[in-house]
Amino acid sequence: MARTDHKPIAVVTGGAGFIGSHMVDRLIGEGYRVRVIDNLSGGHEANLAHLSRNRDVTLDTSDIRSLSANSALFQDAELVFHFAGIGDIVPSIEQPTQYLDTNVQGTVRVLEASRYAKGVQRFVYAASSSCYGLAATPTREDFPIQPQYPYALSKYLGEQVVLHWGQVYGLPVNSMRIFNAYGPRVRTTGAYGAVFGVFFRQKLAGKPFTVVGDGTQSRDFIYVTDVAAAFFLASQHAPPGEIYNVGADNPQTILHLVELLGGDVVFVPKRPGEPDCTHANIDKIKQLGFQPQVPFATGVATMMRDIELWRNAPLWDEASIAQATSTWFQYLGPGKRTPTA
Ligand code: UDP
Repeated sequence: MARTDHKPIAVVTGGAGFIGSHMVDRLIGEGYRVRVIDNLSGGHEANLAHLSRNRDVTLDTSDIRSLSANSALFQDAELVFHFAGIGDIVPSIEQPTQYLDTNVQGTVRVLEASRYAKGVQRFVYAASSSCYGLAATPTREDFPIQPQYPYALSKYLGEQVVLHWGQVYGLPVNSMRIFNAYGPRVRTTGAYGAVFGVFFRQKLAGKPFTVVGDGTQSRDFIYVTDVAAAFFLASQHAPPGEIYNVGADNPQTILHLVELLGGDVVFVPKRPGEPDCTHANIDKIKQLGFQPQVPFATGVATMMRDIELWRNAPLWDEASIAQATSTWFQYLGPGKRTPTA
């Protein structure tokens, strides 16, 4: 039956993933019909389960790497939010080809589909603050780019591609460099990484938190609904071609996180290439009216209410972390491997 409403249409790639699914929620709240493209490699249909009877959300499980330029999914879309991609540091060191294929070439495909669709008024790319590497803080958007591992490189190259499509083809684009996003639906499976999943599972098991280094390192954690709000603001008010940091401008130490969660700790070696502090300068996005809404303690408490979701997540300890990060130390550490002649 033909639809009779005239809701605007948005495409969200990676919309079944952690941040993408919150973007879908936000867009539904703003009165959009949303087409999710997600091959469910990292995302889960369960992340959209609360919307399962909502006729305004559809899921297509195409892989972005095989999207055709004339994909019907982009027809009549006004907004495109591109979150689909692969994360995590260690697997990116082990399989750089896959990271560049998905995060760069996949982005090219999404851009081409957006360009051919003609009606796209804004394309917003989920970039990563990891492009700054070991940066001076608070970090501004024009600070030097120094990716430390292939994941960071791939997300940065994706950003370059996005800006290039803006420049050459006139597609109105923005790139959002996300700092440490956290909140409900942060992933509970997969490779070692993302401190929240690691610590929640340890708490459930009554095991000590594996604190890296001395725990005084800090991260600019930003609650996921604040990230979705920043992306929506950019889609409505940002001048095309601009890059924005998306952080809370309020770094929190790992020891403080441990204090909020409550439990014993065990210390594991500091990892090479990891910044001691990440801290976004968010003056630029504030000019669009952005203001983070969720204080860290509130965000953590909200996640804690759903801690049972981590019951089946992998349980990490000192030994399994040492094994999982051995490639990291091998390639990024002081005795790093150099090419032989
Ligand atoms: N971290 C930790 N224990 C862990 C995993 C992570 O103390 O088992 C720390 C890590 O050193 C970093 C912070 O938590 O300071 C965030 O780590 P995550 O891997 O989530 O993000 P990123 O390092 O990419 O900022």
